[in-house]
Order: sequence, then structure tokens, then C-alpha cells
Amino acid sequence: MERTALDQLAAVLKTWGQYAFDLDEIKASSINEQIDGWVRHILMATPRPGLEPAPEDETGDGDPELTARRDWPGLNAFVSRLRRNEQSYVNRQIVGTRQVMGDFVQTLGRVLAEDQEEQTRVLSAIGHMRTAIEGNAPIETLSETALHAINLITDIAKERSRRNQGLLNELTGKLHEMRGELDAAQREMELDPLTRLYNRKAFDIQLERVFELCKLSGQPACLMMVDADHFKRINDTFGHPAGDQVLKRLANCCVQSFPRRTDFVARYGGEEFAVVLQDTTTSTAVQLAERLLDVVRDLEIEYEQERLRITISIGIAELNASPTASDWLQASDKALYQAKNSGRDRLVTQGLTV
Ligand code: GH3
Ligand code: MG
Ligand code: MG
Repeated sequence: MERTALDQLAAVLKTWGQYAFDLDEIKASSINEQIDGWVRHILMATPRPGLEPAPEDETGDGDPELTARRDWPGLNAFVSRLRRNEQSYVNRQIVGTRQVMGDFVQTLGRVLAEDQEEQTRVLSAIGHMRTAIEGNAPIETLSETALHAINLITDIAKERSRRNQGLLNELTGKLHEMRGELDAAQREMELDPLTRLYNRKAFDIQLERVFELCKLSGQPACLMMVDADHFKRINDTFGHPAGDQVLKRLANCCVQSFPRRTDFVARYGGEEFAVVLQDTTTSTAVQLAERLLDVVRDLEIEYEQERLRITISIGIAELNASPTASDWLQASDKALYQAKNSGRDRLVTQGLTV
């Protein structure tokens, strides 16, 4: 009968050891070991675990009598100490968890509750949670309340993000619209009223821009100056409006000869046009210029009863031969001057007649 009672007590202790958990100062494995020691002590009267005497045990561990008897007060002291440690550990953990949950939900709520209606919903969820914490509700109820609050706040956050995205899209759209209007206004400002080509100011800006960009990227670029030959004669013979008509048709020829988005055609002044060609070598520019010379040669401009004809001269300079944008401009101007001096209706590339 006594044996059975000891066996039962040992089984209870073993189960306790088996499900031990880490406490602040002692690991589960060590608790388990100590319990095993006590179990052996109870069943086989081996010396009880621990070298130091238990606090309630005044007799000391070295007493051979004690090994023969069971140290029941020692076991009682061990079990009480362990249980007290477990209790205080669990209590502290629960209080800590409640605190953390409460703080977390409250902080989230404060960040998110912006508008009145959201604020009411969030505050009510937080209120429920506080009641659960303060009313010492079971941990399951606490988890449920926290989950509800977190779901609510998450939904609000999603809705907020969707709303912000909408607002952002609207703003971006407006910005694009404004930029479009600005571009249009700028283009209008920079256009030459007679030919609708870019004016001299726009050309100066573009020349600098392309110069810097292509110097940086190492891409080739060409500048072409196009000047109407003996244009003064047209004005003198057929009148200024006839001259205007010719200039408009010449401008159209230029635009059609350089249609790429990056080709930039401007009226440099009077009867002179400038073309900035990005990503273009001299040999490509020469081909394009020859085609333009041909188109203009074939051009007949009907004006009143007259059919006016005209030719042009072209100077071409490639960017990489020039240290500055203004050198680049001078080089193409010089080439144009040479084209004029060598007979007109032709092109010259940086000192070389073609
Ligand atoms: P070259 O072959 O050497 O270029 O001779 P050119 O006659 O074309 O050159 P010049 O510089 O002697 O004369 C240019 C003329 O272009 C003088 C000017 O009245 C005329 N011109 C400048 N702008 C306009 C304009 O907007 N409309 C008209 N109709 N004529 C213009
Ligand atoms: Mg001229
Ligand atoms: Mg001229």
C-alpha cells in the first residue's frame, strides 16, 4: 500500500518535471533533473538532490540517517519554492502581455484615427480592450478583443492607403495637365510667328542643352546652318510678301527633312535656319543635307502669277570637334560662309567642300 502511494507521488512529480518550463533563473531541463533526483530519492532512498540543505532542513545533507529515511520536509520545501517561482513568473508574464497588447493597439489607433468617424470606431475598440485588460478578463477574451481592434485598424489603414493613392493619382494628373499647359505656353513663346519654327532664343537654349548632353554621353551630334541664296533678290523682285511665302515653304522643307523627335529646327534669323541633330554623325548629316538641297532645288513656289525658285547653302559642323557650344556654332557658320563663297547651292562640312 505504501509502495503504491510512493509510486503515485513519484508519477505526479515526473509529470511535473516533464512539463516544466523555463523560469527567470532556472531552465526547464534543470528543474526536470532536480525532480528526477527527488523521484529517485523517494523510490530508492538515494541521497536527496542538491548538496546544500533545504532552507527548512536544519539537519544538513551529510547525515547518513537522512539517506535511509525520506526527506519529506525537504521535498515539501522544494515543491513549494518551485510552485511559488512558477506562479510569480506566470503572473508577471500575463501582466506584461496585457500591457504590451494595450500599448500596441493604442499606439496604432492614435496614428491612424484621423477623421471623426474612424476615430470613434478606433476609440471604441481600444475602450473594449482596456475594459478587458482592467477587468482581468481571461487571456482568450483579451486576445479576441485585441484581434478585433487590430483587424479594424488594419481595415482603416487599407482604406486610408486606397484614399491616399486616389489623391496621389489625382494630384499627379493635375501636375501633368499643368506641365502640358506650361509646355504649350512655352512652345508658343518660343515659336517664330512667320515660319512656326523654334525661334533664336529657343535655339540658343537647345544648342547648349544638346552640347552638354552629347559631351557627357559621347554621342555624336551635328549642327547645320541653312541659308537661302540671294534671298534679297526675291524681296527686291517680287516684294516682301513673296519673300515671306518662300521662307514659309523653306521652313516646311526643313521640318520634313528632319522629322525625328530629337531633330531641332529653328529660324536662326532672317533667311537663315539652324538644325541641331542629335545622335548623328557628319556622314549622316551630309546625306540628309544633300536630300534637302535636292528638295529645295525642285521646289516651285506659286506666288500670284509667278513660280518662284530658290536654292540654299549649308554649313555642317560635328560637335566633338568643338570645345564649347559657341565654337560649335562658329564652326558651322564658317562652313556656311565657305559654301557661299565657293558658289552657293551646296554644302560644306567644317572646311571641306562636298
Ligand atoms: P546670300 O546668298 O549671300 O545669303 O544673299 P542673301 O540675299 O540671301 O543675303 P542678305 O543677307 O544680303 O539678304 C538677306 C535678306 O533677307 C535681307 C532681308 O530683307 C531678307 N529678310 C530677312 N528676314 C526676312 C523676312 O522675315 N521676310 C522677308 N520677306 N525677307 C526677310
Ligand atoms: Mg541668304
Ligand atoms: Mg543670311
